Amino acid sequence: MATKKTTKKTTRKKKTVNPAAYDYNAKLPETMDGTVLYNVPFPSDLKDLKKMEPIIIKHTYTIDYIHSYGQDSPFFAGLANKKLLGTECTKCGYRYATPRLHCMECGAECDWFELPQEGRVHTFTTCYYGSEEFLKETPFHLILVEFDGVDTLLLARLIGVERPEDIKIGMKVKARFRRLSKFKPTDVYFVPAEE
Ligand SMILES: [Zn+2]
Repeated sequence: MATKKTTKKTTRKKKTVNPAAYDYNAKLPETMDGTVLYNVPFPSDLKDLKKMEPIIIKHTYTIDYIHSYGQDSPFFAGLANKKLLGTECTKCGYRYATPRLHCMECGAECDWFELPQEGRVHTFTTCYYGSEEFLKETPFHLILVEFDGVDTLLLARLIGVERPEDIKIGMKVKARFRRLSKFKPTDVYFVPAEE
């Protein structure tokens, strides 16, 4: 009789809890990344944790930016076709080397025109530090290019000159274009032009 009772009890318990639905040893799978640390120092007295050095981990990330050039798009189509495009105000005639579709002076709409591919160094700077994208290219020279008959300047990279002291204000420069267009302002850069 006693044995029978025990069996009945067990059967009833199984029905209520249903242990088959749970895995009490479940574990997240290990992945190939992460930091494996051996012998992480750990004090025997927890009060000493406050003296602990910070743990620094390395973590790689990438982001895809979706970005529209909107009404500036023709400028980048120009670069891909080895053309430098500026804009000219339809009302006051102000000419922009860095294109804008509406005039800063009078607010009227501008039309596109093709800039000359030779200009002069208006001013320059040599960058020894840069944002993440350009950091590995430092040091590099940036110039503001002035063009005949154009009222504003164009910011671009100058290559082909090693030392900043060899860059002269007013020196002639000519545009070069990347063969493989990245549709970025850096698709155009300048090199010294023979006088
Ligand atoms: Zn205008």
